[in-house]
Amino acid sequence: MRVISLGSGSSGNALLIEAGPNGRTRLLVDAGLPCRTLINRLHLAGVSPAQILAVLLTHEHNDHTLALPTLLKRYDPLVISDPATLATLADNSRQESHATTGSQTGTEQSLSLCLREKRPARLPGEHGACGKRMTTLLPLRRTLALPAGNSCLLGDIEIFSFPVPHDAAAPCGYLLSAGGCRVCVVVDSGSVTPIMLEAMRQADLLVLEANHDRERLLRGPYTYALKMRILSPTGHLSNEQAAQAILQTWRTNGLRWIWLAHLSQVNNTPQLALRSVQRHLVEAGAALQQVHLATLPRTMGPAWDSTRLWHDEYWWCYETLTER
Ligand SMILES: [Zn+2]
Ligand SMILES: [Zn+2]
Repeated sequence: MRVISLGSGSSGNALLIEAGPNGRTRLLVDAGLPCRTLINRLHLAGVSPAQILAVLLTHEHNDHTLALPTLLKRYDPLVISDPATLATLADNSRQESHATTGSQTGTEQSLSLCLREKRPARLPGEHGACGKRMTTLLPLRRTLALPAGNSCLLGDIEIFSFPVPHDAAAPCGYLLSAGGCRVCVVVDSGSVTPIMLEAMRQADLLVLEANHDRERLLRGPYTYALKMRILSPTGHLSNEQAAQAILQTWRTNGLRWIWLAHLSQVNNTPQLALRSVQRHLVEAGAALQQVHLATLPRTMGPAWDSTRLWHDEYWWCYETLTER
């Protein structure tokens, strides 16, 4: 598997996942960047957007879905998420399109089919804890409703989706398996549940939110209401919560890689997040040489290539791709 962060943080998130011979199965987990930026970064990774088989959505907030309308219009990838997330996106689209046509489309009919067998959509809050509006006007032609807690096989990648607590319709994380390697993605989650820990424990590469430093958030410029929303059990994970989750899923059988993700630009810094997590791990007596810990930048981030883990001198590959 090859995993490349195309952008991470409150301003936009997207991960490229490749697996199979010549990386033939290519997925995005979230597409929350401006579409032109996303496409430029895909090209930097050597991938054409037309090669993206599917976009897996963790939830509907704008910093995870921004590029979706243009991507769908131009390249028509499959969109995979919990049915309630798909319904929320379709509802937004429907409200917009009613203003012009008022007619039901095939898209709406196919989404209705998904919804009949799944749990009903919860109404999201005024908007998500990412502080963003939700993406609208989605031409959702090809969708795969994957209720959280279920798995499916897409090309060379097995996808397991699990629920996470966040103030969206049906937020989820993903455990992706291919070629004997597993990658777990948990972003935008206010707390950590047993099913999340079980998925994280299996990961060779764990992409885990470390959104804020609690003290910095409390002292910072956000309104009281926003601070409380971020700190709530359906808000965002702090550095300390991320460290506790890492400790609870500690593995003694070999190396693992951990990318701290979705860092707030206001309430965190890469140095603060790294230092905080390392301090908690050391205080708990964890052997730091067993983990490769890094923070994901807002821009193009590192690449993790499992096919090189067993060949390189240090058993791992860690490249940073620079943006032109
Ligand atoms: Zn977010
Ligand atoms: Zn969110």
